[in-house]
Amino acid sequence: MIEFLKNIITQLPKENKDEFLREIYGENLLKLIVSAIILIIAETVISCLLWDQICNADGAIIVFILFNVIMLPVLYMVYKRINVAKDVIVKNVQRIYLFGALIYGCALTLILQGEFESIHVYIIVVFAIAAFIYMQPVESLIMYFLAYLVFCFVLPYYQTNTYIVTILTVNALIMNIIAWVLSRMVFRLRVKSFIDKKIILEQNLQLKDLSIRDSMTMLLNYKHIFEKLSEEIGRAKRIEYPLSIIMMDIDDFKYINDNYGHLTGDNIIIKVAQILGNTCRITDIIGRYGGEEFIIIMPGAALKDAAFLAERIRMTINTAEFEKGINITVSGGIREWQGDSAEELIKRVDQQLYIAKSKGKNRFETM
Ligand code: GH3
Ligand code: MG
Ligand code: MG
Repeated sequence: MIEFLKNIITQLPKENKDEFLREIYGENLLKLIVSAIILIIAETVISCLLWDQICNADGAIIVFILFNVIMLPVLYMVYKRINVAKDVIVKNVQRIYLFGALIYGCALTLILQGEFESIHVYIIVVFAIAAFIYMQPVESLIMYFLAYLVFCFVLPYYQTNTYIVTILTVNALIMNIIAWVLSRMVFRLRVKSFIDKKIILEQNLQLKDLSIRDSMTMLLNYKHIFEKLSEEIGRAKRIEYPLSIIMMDIDDFKYINDNYGHLTGDNIIIKVAQILGNTCRITDIIGRYGGEEFIIIMPGAALKDAAFLAERIRMTINTAEFEKGINITVSGGIREWQGDSAEELIKRVDQQLYIAKSKGKNRFETM
């Protein structure tokens, strides 16, 4: 029972609450705009075609048409500025329109008491709001309750038969309760779809991230680092900014694998990746290019900036202590982009790396 009640009085999503409210306000406003347009047209056509038959209700219909004509531009303006408009304005414009519609439902029901001893217009309005408009539990409760009070208070003036007054009052109460429960169910489904959408988006982002990263070091993988390099070259071309890259390889890594085992080798690669992450600038893009080879793309960096960073990396790795007391050195090539393609740039920086190795390792070569 408590669970059922809890489900009916749905809570808002805990995270992204404001985003959710803005979304549902936007959707509500759009629905109200469409309904205002339809009502203006429909009520005008009905008044023109059936003027003789609706003479009792003509005043209410004309007032409601005018109400819609005034509210339509207001609703539209708030809808257009939904992201910047104040919360209080967005909420109250909707409330005014909905309350106006409810009062119209009451008024028409009361005026037509002479002809139909029923409350079908009232029911239509209450259920239409429950089914189409997202309202928070207390908000909808207060709105339905106020409209119901107005209805009960005015009904005896239009319906003299006290027996019928009692029946209609009870019927209206039951209809209000059912409509309120329906509006809770509609609201709950909307909250659920919002949360599900967020979860899917989050999972998609995680999947995308996994597909571009190397699972061991969490650095960008070979394929993606290459795409990134092409992207950055395109950007450097457009904004005429320098761009440099560093290619780095751990020296004598086979020796480490052979003497300390592959697992230790893996841990050394992971730690080198961490050192790179801590040493590079936030804007640098780091990738694992091969087994123990890394690439650093440095947007906005000229050759001397890249050489400065490379030296810092080399020193940090030189002085870092790895597991089992192992010390390692690294060698690399550095190159500033000079109009070459991504393939050419990688080929040339690889040549620099080769030169660094042939010159005795533990050094970076620039060109
Ligand atoms: P150099 O100084 O010339 O670079 O010599 P090196 O021994 O480091 O030679 P090279 O770079 O050519 O070889 C890299 C070795 O790294 C070969 C391969 O077995 C090993 N390796 C590649 N990927 C991994 C990995 O993920 N984990 C471990 N433990 N070893 C790897
Ligand atoms: Mg090596
Ligand atoms: Mg290598």
